[in-house]
Amino acid sequence: MAAENVVPLRTAPRIDRFRAERAVTELLAALGYPADGEHRANTPQRVTSAFEELLTPSAFLPTTFPNDEGYDELVVARQVPFRSLCEHHLLPFAGTAHVGYLPGSRIVGLSKLARVVEHFAAGLQVQERLTQQVADWLHDNLAARGVGVVVEAEHLCMSLRGVRAAGARTVTSALRGDLRTDARTRDEFLSLARGS
Ligand code: ZN
Repeated sequence: MAAENVVPLRTAPRIDRFRAERAVTELLAALGYPADGEHRANTPQRVTSAFEELLTPSAFLPTTFPNDEGYDELVVARQVPFRSLCEHHLLPFAGTAHVGYLPGSRIVGLSKLARVVEHFAAGLQVQERLTQQVADWLHDNLAARGVGVVVEAEHLCMSLRGVRAAGARTVTSALRGDLRTDARTRDEFLSLARGS
């Protein structure tokens, strides 16, 4: 078996900058703030660039390795920062993810756990789906015995508008394999994720 195994992640949709800039120009006009004058003349380009940055995952090779040493304890990356865009309001949500797995036949570099979070966060998302995608990707591609993902985030669509619950954080979790079925392993992961 090869020492390395590279697994492709999802490919992001292509961004049509011309249409996006035209749409932002139209949106500004519709909101009563036409894209003219020194401050707003380049706003359509800036908004498009900001969306492009938030929606484009950085390229990385999610290399995995055989678990030659037979490591069989939990591996947990805590407080992985991320930001994403809520697909219901096109407003950002941001927070931290705690990602753990119980190795099976393959292991992955620790920095790659953070890269997987960043990768799936770079798109129009809802927090529940983001949490599941990270868990499923790790579970499937590492042949892990178990995976746990806890995501905590503040959503601007909740803190700046609507209920205006400033500082409120939404917590979601996804558990797979032994972390779902075995109470002791699950408790160990959740206490490591909490940092207690
Ligand atoms: Zn929202």
